[in-house]
Amino acid sequence: MYTKPIPQADDESREFYDGARRHELMLMRCRACRAWRLPSRPRCPDCWSTDTEWARASGRGTLYSFGIMHQKFPGFEADTPFQYAVVELDEGPRIVSNVVDVPPDGLRVDMPLLAVFDDVSGDTTLIRFTKAAA
Ligand SMILES: [Zn+2]
Repeated sequence: MYTKPIPQADDESREFYDGARRHELMLMRCRACRAWRLPSRPRCPDCWSTDTEWARASGRGTLYSFGIMHQKFPGFEADTPFQYAVVELDEGPRIVSNVVDVPPDGLRVDMPLLAVFDDVSGDTTLIRFTKAAA
């Protein structure tokens, strides 16, 4: 049983989490200027258009930054220390996640990553990343 906090979708993010359950990384994209965005929001920060769509992203990206968490937050005590990562997606937006299957001392900025889908409960899937071939 998954006992850690689970993100709660709202009207703006529901397609992102529904996509994750389907094992698809969904991002909002502006129909006017084609810019991708995350987090989702009704107005494009680049051109201010409200004409938006959801589209499937590649799932590819690179490690933009990372840190090692030593503070024992409730629910994460058994995992501490653990790494967290900021991944720059090939489409442009950055997402905060984890890199699985790579020890913290194996993380390198700019390393290629690929999204993987962690079904943590019957109705929640978290997007994490793993090392991709260069
Ligand atoms: Zn735009």
